[in-house]
Amino acid sequence: MFSKDIGIDLGTANVLIHVKGEGIVLNEPSVVAIDNDTKKPLAVGTKAHEMLGRTPGKVKAIRPLKDGVIADFDATEIMLNHFIKEVNGKTFLSKPRILICCPSNITQVEKNAIKEAAERTGAKKVFLEEEPKVAAVGAGMDISLPSGNMVVDIGGGTTDIAILSLGEIVNCSSIKIAGNTFDNDIEKYIKEKYKLLIGDRTAENIKFAIGNVFPDSLKEKMEVRGRDLITGLPHTITICSEEIEEALRESAYIIVNTAKFVLEQTPPELAADIIDKGIVITGGGALIKGFDQLLNYELKVPVRIANSPLTCVVEGTGILLNNIHLIDR
Ligand code: ADP
Ligand code: MG
Repeated sequence: MFSKDIGIDLGTANVLIHVKGEGIVLNEPSVVAIDNDTKKPLAVGTKAHEMLGRTPGKVKAIRPLKDGVIADFDATEIMLNHFIKEVNGKTFLSKPRILICCPSNITQVEKNAIKEAAERTGAKKVFLEEEPKVAAVGAGMDISLPSGNMVVDIGGGTTDIAILSLGEIVNCSSIKIAGNTFDNDIEKYIKEKYKLLIGDRTAENIKFAIGNVFPDSLKEKMEVRGRDLITGLPHTITICSEEIEEALRESAYIIVNTAKFVLEQTPPELAADIIDKGIVITGGGALIKGFDQLLNYELKVPVRIANSPLTCVVEGTGILLNNIHLIDR
């Protein structure tokens, strides 16, 4: 019988699953909807995401890994189980090997708990890896050489910045400034400047459409609907990309300065490699216009956006499972 290896990117915003020989078979938001009365899960993933912010009192839609720590372990296990079973039902002939990539901030106890939860779904063997390493591999870096590589992964709840060499993380930092922060920044900016209340989804849509962090990287306008704080009535304003750059500036600079700090703390030989090879940015936040330009401008090293920032990590799990010596230590 032959078993299929599966790789899971257990992200703060999205969960993706890769099956050997099939590619990416699942890509859903990391959300679980729970019935407040019975505490039973009602929906997981895309279905649960549709309930976020729109749920009646008795339904609570939660992001179990929000901020890169396990906010709700039961919900994390429910979600992991649900997704593994969904994929399992479709594909496996026998017990798979599973590689899970989880946010780097979680504790050893939480890591063990995730591992055990995956083992309970019937895996033959479960490996856990740190996200920056997997992201780097997925972005096409050869991290096995004695040469420095730098990756900045801007996810939903956390930004992970790491320097890698010889297959290991040499130096890293994880901060809670990432995609969700940008959404909050946009909400706050519009509330203060226009006295207009907008929801999380509207803020995220503005970020998708005209999010930018480098002056002159984008010149566009967009209509935004919300609730006027003064009249309490629906109201529409027009906002331009320059305003969004201003709204995101402070958070963008926290990421840039953390990257600068990590680079400064790196042994000179490895730093020299990075000056040659540059930095790769991954994660959904890499899609914000101008992040590459801003990092390049402030750090004075070449910056490249990964080919597919949102799927890099899960693709990395696929590559690592094919090179099991890199994870089975
Ligand atoms: P995680 O690994 O934490 O699950 P992801 O790498 O999947 O996170 O990235 C999710 C974040 O990326 C979200 O905050 C989302 O709003 C943001 N994002 C996704 N696509 C875009 C885009 N086109 N422009 C800007 N931000 C984006
Ligand atoms: Mg991620």
